[in-house]
Amino acid sequence: MPANTVTDSESDDEPEHESALETARRQLREAATHVDVDPGVIERLKHPTRVVEVAVPLKRDDGSVEVFTGYRAQHDDVRGPYKGGLRYHPDVSSQECVGLAMWMTWKCAVMDIPYGGAKGGIIVNPKELSTDEKERLTRRFAEEIRDEVGPNQDIPAPDMGTDAKTMAWFMDAYSMQEGETIPGVVTGKPPVIGGSYGREEAPGRSVAIIAREAIDYYDNDIRDTTVAIQGYGSVGANAARLLDEWGADVVAVSDVNGGIYDTSGLDTQSVPSHKEEPEGVMSQEAPNTVTNEELLELDVDVLIPAAIGNVITIDNADDIKADIVVEGANGPTTSGADSILDERDIPVVPDILANAGGVTVSYFEWLQDINRRKWSKERVQNELESEIMSAWDNVKAEVEASDTSWRDAAYIVALNRIGAAKEARGLWP
Ligand code: NAD
Repeated sequence: MPANTVTDSESDDEPEHESALETARRQLREAATHVDVDPGVIERLKHPTRVVEVAVPLKRDDGSVEVFTGYRAQHDDVRGPYKGGLRYHPDVSSQECVGLAMWMTWKCAVMDIPYGGAKGGIIVNPKELSTDEKERLTRRFAEEIRDEVGPNQDIPAPDMGTDAKTMAWFMDAYSMQEGETIPGVVTGKPPVIGGSYGREEAPGRSVAIIAREAIDYYDNDIRDTTVAIQGYGSVGANAARLLDEWGADVVAVSDVNGGIYDTSGLDTQSVPSHKEEPEGVMSQEAPNTVTNEELLELDVDVLIPAAIGNVITIDNADDIKADIVVEGANGPTTSGADSILDERDIPVVPDILANAGGVTVSYFEWLQDINRRKWSKERVQNELESEIMSAWDNVKAEVEASDTSWRDAAYIVALNRIGAAKEARGLWP
């Protein structure tokens, strides 16, 4: 699809249920008002470089053939190869891929990782496929988008509905066709074929590091801090356990069925994460249970929404009692809610900074792959800490210099880096 056929609402209204693309473009417009970047650069960033749509035929286990639609949206690569997940979900669309690809551009730029943004996926419900069908679908998809991807071109990763196994199939299919083993074509692989130690825990680890720094920045002691976390999956459980280890009281956690609440602090190790026992949170003994809605409104020091998007809205933003919100999930706060929290002086540390540990360790994985070197888990964790702290310091400096919100500051840092790279490279031809 040509870039200029992507529709865009240029309205400054802030609808509560805007699409990922509308959100990404609105955030670009808002950030653009704060930076001294050429309007031509901003105009270019409103559009993806390309969106590839492919038909992915699959022979089902019963011998019938079904054709699925797949996409790869590449937003911008001025700072390095495109990078972003592959999603298998019934709601995947080209516009959603473009919006999510734009977020990846900002996320890589705020982290100062030499990548641009991409996102892709297939419109499919992976729960309705057998493992063999998922493998065949993935291999054929890899072949259909083979010209678009590559370790120096575009590097996919797991996302909703895909995992390390999916990346192993993708890497194998790509490598077979290219005639050599190329682990750097995807990240999020099993360590035995070039995946990185510490990749799985990385987004939760970065959320915990950012929460720890935010707690300190607002003059609180982590050992006197209470935390509520919505979603006890890869992001939520890893963040919870680290914060617990560092002395915080994680008083409430939840999964899709609801949450448990103990004012004296939960034993986060004994509550099963989504990976350990899906939907196992409510089976744990605790003095109180809460709904997911109630959890968001608990009187805690730090709230970490780490499950899904659009959970803090204009309907509950006035009832949030936390002193700090750290976004673990992608897009948990709607724009309307963001304004209300801002007026109420409740800082919201944005997703593109807080959960960027995932893409950061993906970058480490790629470095290990292209250099044919393996890093220890300790090295991964040390380098992650250093990258996250550097991004935190950059965004904090912008918050203080511009007297702006954490979200605006993160976008300003990202946009300045992208703008400077575009200016240095110029427009070809
Ligand atoms: P996950 O599948 O490991 O866990 C999700 C958790 O949220 C589970 O406990 C699930 O029960 C719960 N949940 C699902 N729907 C819910 C609902 N409606 N209300 C409350 N809880 C619900 O997922 P994850 O990898 O931890 O991802 C969580 C969020 O973080 C997503 O927004 C994801 O896009 C984002 N994220 C993930 C990564 C990553 O690499 N894992 C990186 C960056 C951002």
